Amino acid sequence: KNLEKTYHSNEGSLKVLDIPFYEIKEGSQLALVGPSGSGKTTLLNIISGLVHPTKGEVLVDGIRVDLFKESEKDRFRSKLIGYIFQNFNLVNSLTAMENVMLPMMFRGLISKPQQQERAKELLGKVHLSHRLNHRPANLSRGEQQRVAIARALANEAKLILADEPTGNIDYHTGMKVFRLLKDLCNKEKITLVMVTHSEEFKNEFTQIVDIREINRAILHGGEGTLWES
Ligand code: ATP
Repeated sequence: KNLEKTYHSNEGSLKVLDIPFYEIKEGSQLALVGPSGSGKTTLLNIISGLVHPTKGEVLVDGIRVDLFKESEKDRFRSKLIGYIFQNFNLVNSLTAMENVMLPMMFRGLISKPQQQERAKELLGKVHLSHRLNHRPANLSRGEQQRVAIARALANEAKLILADEPTGNIDYHTGMKVFRLLKDLCNKEKITLVMVTHSEEFKNEFTQIVDIREINRAILHGGEGTLWES
């Protein structure tokens, strides 16, 4: 509601987002599209509580994520939201299983053996039971992507945000993993919002939203230079 984000730097100020109101329906699978620089990642980062909006409110399942205190952020965020980053952001020094356990550790609700059990189960769901103790450097890109998906599912979040997670992966692997993610979200009734540029991926979603349809900062003369991508 009344969401605004302005970045300030040495080159001046840039208003990237101005969204009067937008609601993502529970259980929907939404593709977020738009040209490079139009604020897609910024919006995902704000919804996930990673970046603070300049103004406005962000509610996920009725909870104000924009009000999370720095010290509570990880615990609250990891309860509500799973985030699959463009480059997966796995922790290199940790094994696949330990990476999936991280959000459960932040949340602190279940014991370590229970975390291990759940991590194993999730890695099984993404067909990685044979890679539990591998570190990211020893996994393929597609495997790393599946670890990132398992990690996003770790806390039974209500919402999964994915920032072009198939960008650097060959089409067939990307599509396979993406369908797996979609099915898991369907089964668990998790809302999925994914940034994608790919035409093939777009058609797999129940809803496609171009950020320019909801963002006045761009529609009404935002200062950014947009590149079609
Ligand atoms: P792409 O499709 O290329 O990933 P995007 O739609 O995700 O782009 P954002 O990454 O949200 O766009 O960036 C929106 C605008 O905000 C860009 O002009 C970018 O340069 C600017 N921007 C992003 N992060 C910052 C920051 N931390 N400080 C200053 N400007 C930023």
